Amino acid sequence: GSSNSDSHVDVLIVGAGPAGMMASMHLSELGISHRIIDHRGTRTLNGRADGFHVPTVEIWESFGLYNHIEQYGERFGHWGLWTFGEDPEAGIYRQHRGYIPSQDKARHEIVTMNQGMIEAALGDGVRARNGPVVERGTKPVELTIDESLANDLSSYPITARVYHARKSELPDVWTGAHTVQEDGSLKRERGFIDAFGTDPHEFENHVNGVEGTTETIHAKYVIGTDGAHSWVRRQLPDFKMEGDTSDEVFGVVDIIPSTNFPDIRKTCSILSRAGFLLQISRENGLVRLYVQFPEGYETSETKAKDNEAATLTDILAAARKMYYPYTMDYKYCDWWTIYRVGQRVCNKASHLDRIFLAGDAIHTHSPKGGQGMNVSQHDTYSLTWKIAGVLKSQLPPSVLQTYEQERLPIARNLIELDNDMAKVLLARANRDEAEVQRVYKRLSEFSGAISTYKTNMVVGNGARQNAAAGLPIGSRFSNATVYSQADGPATPTQSLLKSNGLWRLIVFAGDVSSHTQLSKVNALGDRLAALQQRYPPLSTRQKHFLEILLFHASPVSAVEFADFHNTFFPKDDILGRNYYTIYGDEDGVDALEKEKRCHAIYRVDETKGALVVVRPDQITAWVGGLDDVGEMEDWLAGFMVGKAEGKRKNSPRDEQDDGVM
Ligand code: FAD
Repeated sequence: GSSNSDSHVDVLIVGAGPAGMMASMHLSELGISHRIIDHRGTRTLNGRADGFHVPTVEIWESFGLYNHIEQYGERFGHWGLWTFGEDPEAGIYRQHRGYIPSQDKARHEIVTMNQGMIEAALGDGVRARNGPVVERGTKPVELTIDESLANDLSSYPITARVYHARKSELPDVWTGAHTVQEDGSLKRERGFIDAFGTDPHEFENHVNGVEGTTETIHAKYVIGTDGAHSWVRRQLPDFKMEGDTSDEVFGVVDIIPSTNFPDIRKTCSILSRAGFLLQISRENGLVRLYVQFPEGYETSETKAKDNEAATLTDILAAARKMYYPYTMDYKYCDWWTIYRVGQRVCNKASHLDRIFLAGDAIHTHSPKGGQGMNVSQHDTYSLTWKIAGVLKSQLPPSVLQTYEQERLPIARNLIELDNDMAKVLLARANRDEAEVQRVYKRLSEFSGAISTYKTNMVVGNGARQNAAAGLPIGSRFSNATVYSQADGPATPTQSLLKSNGLWRLIVFAGDVSSHTQLSKVNALGDRLAALQQRYPPLSTRQKHFLEILLFHASPVSAVEFADFHNTFFPKDDILGRNYYTIYGDEDGVDALEKEKRCHAIYRVDETKGALVVVRPDQITAWVGGLDDVGEMEDWLAGFMVGKAEGKRKNSPRDEQDDGVM
């Protein structure tokens, strides 16, 4: 096909997996013009990644997508640990069952659901924000960047030529779903592919562009979320995946099992004489089996270690040996694959701070911890607001360097965790239960995103961390309960951190029943109101860049709205008062033990209070005392672009581009 059109866009996303869809949803929320292309004709239909960890649940909640998880996800309850003993004839026995260590402390549970549902739900999130549909059947064929323009903010330095396939060139859509008939023959089934919405654009081959033509797209930024074999990565100089050269091979199946295995609805880590198997309970009555063949384990029916052509029959034959003395069979299979993956991290994630890679394109690892799809979404969640910040003249382009500074260490931690899990879970001799508990605890903690970003342009240095020691700088904002001053209900603090581009200042007001303390807090009002005006909002939908929330350490019945300065109880000319900015530690009806109050949980002294700045991606960025307001202003001024400065830097073209898509 010949090049038949030319267009401009702020951001081009290549690849509509979980990472690409999260990028699209966040950019849509922030009103950034973008396109998203994918070479496949459909979204993922089923199978593939399925572990959905707590921070990802929290992030989805902040986009209003929690209902999808509740409706379709399978809650991760007890976990079973199975192993084998001395007697070679005896098969596996249960070593332990219970919750995954630390898991019981989280506000949400881990859930599992197939990647198709995840992509479909993110698609809903994009639609709800007026974002673009995924342009399917479309792949980039050429990607160049004019380096001389890389520092010119108004330019479109990237040129991508994309090809819109002919439908006839796309592979037939079939998920591998089938039933086993009475006579043992297999009948092809459609699977659960339309269980998550009825838009055929997602599950029947689709080409959005003019079939068989190429198009030239000029972009300011490109996000390469095109998976482990990333084409975008291969176009970039000096980008290398580093790590193991050999891959682990898993046989992976999603079946509705018929079995007498007692822990079939639990997630189980099974180390048998015949190899390692991970069993994960899933939506729609399905069970996911990961069958990993131990080194040197080769029989006539399983050559999977070296031979990707191992069939479903081979995988099940191996699984049956691992379940012995229990049975394992199925009548319905939803999906299966041979998944070959190595532990690798890319040496870079950004090219000239114009082309970024995220997700599997920069990190691959075994599915043991069920982390890939989570970390991949977190990558783009944390990248997109920074890009929006630059496009909206709130943040300088150098903020984009923090993407790689923050995300590559997380990717490396992820690989280390994967290594640790492999070492412990596959240890052949006498499985040490304490060690297994330890790696699962580590997994939980990783999932709880305790891993922290180091000080950088948008993560403060922690000099005043003691003012709120329970909110470590550089970590995700953890949860506590507060009570609405307006109407009383218990409110998880995390639920106040919607992903809508707002920076937040949490004013821990302390015990405002003390007149001195209340005056001290109110004295900040004018100054904070002025601060709100100083920088442009990151999202077109927001009036201010900064939302101010006030948490006080008194029962809500002890104070009135009118006791607080207008900045904490803001009034809009048209919308009237916002009643949901002030919260107390107690509902004023039932007294709460001190250690359950939010000031105690975040380790804020009630007689002093604290100021905490939270980034648009729910990361605690700065902590100080009420007296440190000047330092906080200086810290923000150190990287934020003022309104006047932004105007000067912006070309007229940027102003026009402020609209949505
Ligand atoms: P992906 O989900 O891989 O998304 C990449 C997207 O980019 C895809 O939609 C793809 O069509 C598109 N794309 C690729 N190349 C191009 C191109 N040149 N042009 C345009 N578009 C392109 N993880 C597990 O935890 N458990 C599993 O069992 C498991 N099985 C998997 C099986 C397969 C066959 C694959 C490919 C992956 C599997 N994964 C599994 C990995 C898991 O899917 C990823 O970790 C996760 O989805 C990461 O999200 P992502 O968006 O970065 O990448």
